[in-house]
Amino acid sequence: MSELKVEQQKSLATFTSWLVGGPAEHYCAPESLGQLQQAMVLAHKNKWPISLLGGGTNALVSDQGVPGLVIHTHKLNRVEVSQTPESVLIEAECGTPKTEILKHFLKLRLAPATFFAGLPGDVAGGVVMNAGVGHKVSPKEFCEVVHSFDVFSVTKSKEADVATGTGTASDSGPGVVCHTYAKGDVQWSYRKSEGWQPGVIAKVRLTWPNQPDDGVLKAVREGNKRRKETQPLSEPSCGSVFKNPDGDHAGRLIEACGLKGYRVGGAQVSEKHANFVVNKGQATASEIDAVIQHVQETVLEQMQVHLTNEVVYLGTWPS
Ligand SMILES: Cc1cc2nc3c(=O)[nH]c(=O)nc-3n(C[C@H](O)[C@H](O)[C@H](O)COP(=O)(O)OP(=O)(O)OC[C@H]3O[C@@H](n4cnc5c(N)ncnc54)[C@H](O)[C@@H]3O)c2cc1C
Repeated sequence: MSELKVEQQKSLATFTSWLVGGPAEHYCAPESLGQLQQAMVLAHKNKWPISLLGGGTNALVSDQGVPGLVIHTHKLNRVEVSQTPESVLIEAECGTPKTEILKHFLKLRLAPATFFAGLPGDVAGGVVMNAGVGHKVSPKEFCEVVHSFDVFSVTKSKEADVATGTGTASDSGPGVVCHTYAKGDVQWSYRKSEGWQPGVIAKVRLTWPNQPDDGVLKAVREGNKRRKETQPLSEPSCGSVFKNPDGDHAGRLIEACGLKGYRVGGAQVSEKHANFVVNKGQATASEIDAVIQHVQETVLEQMQVHLTNEVVYLGTWPS
């Protein structure tokens, strides 16, 4: 196995879809699952906290940067597809872009292609966030296509037992255990998955009945068209900033408060979709956060609705 490369003070801004944020104190982009294990053991030995970065499409990285080791998974993107007459199984490393998964489902003319159309980020990010779409499609949430996933975690001793599942002592390496979670082992909720943390998602398996449908291609085109029409896709963003409250839409509430176009420095509530905060060019993470906080406070004051943030904050933030 080749040696893991670790860089210091590596800027993360270009790895995020908002194009903002400071450096990682230590940074690596493992090229194999073995190197991912090396990175985890290295962080453990040095007492560096680990932060994971996948597609960076749902993360706001602090301008002050991220202490410890940032593991960027974008080079872990191997995919294997197998099928029986009954079902299809796609096994993908954590950093596999969802667009790659889309291609496989599309080729097989299976319904999940409609769900994956236009969904950014990687497969592991999809599991962490239980990514989903608002419009009427089936499947509609990531958990509906998940079969199982592997999670690596570090144990103190080299002689660590390997937990249940597909992992074995040799493939999980010294100090790292691999636990396989079946879909049913996890608590899935709106933009959230729980019950598998702490750890690093290494591999994700997705499955769907092998029932091709010729209408899938048309539905994918329509989905992409809908996104282009309703979302500010030409400007850097993180997609929807807030979760939709029960029975309502965050975007509707924000618009009703007159906040479309509200701006702090280079960060602005999108004129096209009020639940998107866009980077108009030179925004900082602090400016984006200032817009998010102002929106949250204003909607609470005017509508008596507390909007919950969907975005994950990475790095050092004032409490
Ligand atoms: C234009 C646009 C449109 C969007 N539309 C949608 C949408 O329709 N629906 C939707 O749900 N989301 C949407 N999003 C948000 C985002 O794409 C999803 O939440 C996506 O699933 C995040 O994946 P990611 O790889 O980018 O995760 P990241 O942003 O890299 O990370 C998200 C979280 O997962 C953690 N993480 C990443 N990899 C791992 C790993 N291997 N192990 C453990 N933890 C890990 C990170 O530390 C972080 O906490 C949109 C974003 C954009 C920019």
